[in-house]
Amino acid sequence: MSTTNRFGAIESGGTKVICGWSDEHGNILEQCRIPTTTPLEVINEVISFFLSVSDSGSIRPDGVGIGTFGPVNLQKDSSHYGTILKTPKPGWEGANLVNPIRTLFPGTRVVIDTDVNAAALGEMRWGAAQDISDLVYFTIGTGIGCGVISNGNPLHGLVHPEVGHLRIPRSDEDRRSFKGICPFHDDCLEGIASGPAMQARWVEPASELPANHQAWDYEADALAWACVNMIVTVSPRRIIIGGGVSQARWLFPKIREKVVTRLNGYVDVPEITEQIEDFIVPPQLGQDAGLKGAIALVLP
Ligand code: ADP
Ligand code: ZN
Repeated sequence: MSTTNRFGAIESGGTKVICGWSDEHGNILEQCRIPTTTPLEVINEVISFFLSVSDSGSIRPDGVGIGTFGPVNLQKDSSHYGTILKTPKPGWEGANLVNPIRTLFPGTRVVIDTDVNAAALGEMRWGAAQDISDLVYFTIGTGIGCGVISNGNPLHGLVHPEVGHLRIPRSDEDRRSFKGICPFHDDCLEGIASGPAMQARWVEPASELPANHQAWDYEADALAWACVNMIVTVSPRRIIIGGGVSQARWLFPKIREKVVTRLNGYVDVPEITEQIEDFIVPPQLGQDAGLKGAIALVLP
């Protein structure tokens, strides 16, 4: 027996994997949370969840969306579609969540994308970007990720954008005082502006740094450069900045001011020169953002 109007979702993160089951409006009917241990353990738990919500596979969902940490193979016609590429997460290189879902639900459309592309689509459907279809979504957390939606579609190419590893202009003094922590590039964006980078530099965790700490000027400086670079390359109609570090809401006015100053009138549109507070914004989807994003990957 097969039925319609059910969708599966998986939010696959570095510390937890969340599975969801939704109706055709994206309302989450059931969900479960699995610690990110080994791929084998996680896949077994994921399958158990979907077996239970689908009445042992007899309710076939219309689609299953997966938002995952990367890097991940997104070549749709490859047998390695959905395979996790080189990652420092032990055991996860070569892991694949798509194939077990395809085996469980033969014929069901399974779409995988980066967690940030998924989050961006979720914000476009239900959150802070419902009126637009060109969008950049940053998450500033343990790492830095960035989703890009162009004309309603997540941007992919050879792999997917790796905006977390943008190079950021820094003064000589700044470079001397902090080397950066990216194992590949030292002081790329993630190497100087992720939560752990802030902690490495200022000793306190980002969540403990008070609003008047100079750390926030450095942080806004790096994030503003990242925004400027995205504005001049992919021309988003809005930039959403989420992730743990973005909970420091005092960052936003600082970033906006620096973006306007640095563009120096060059991208001369009112969205930036007059209404920057509506252009660089926090996300609107709260707790279920990851699952909602995964569902948005497959909802018609
Ligand atoms: P992950 O990237 O692992 O999914 P988060 O997005 O929650 O996790 O990001 C974790 C980082 O966010 C940590 O470095 C933490 O110090 C920082 N963080 C959490 N809460 C806040 C806060 N209120 N203000 C600033 N930084 C925060
Ligand atoms: Zn890097």
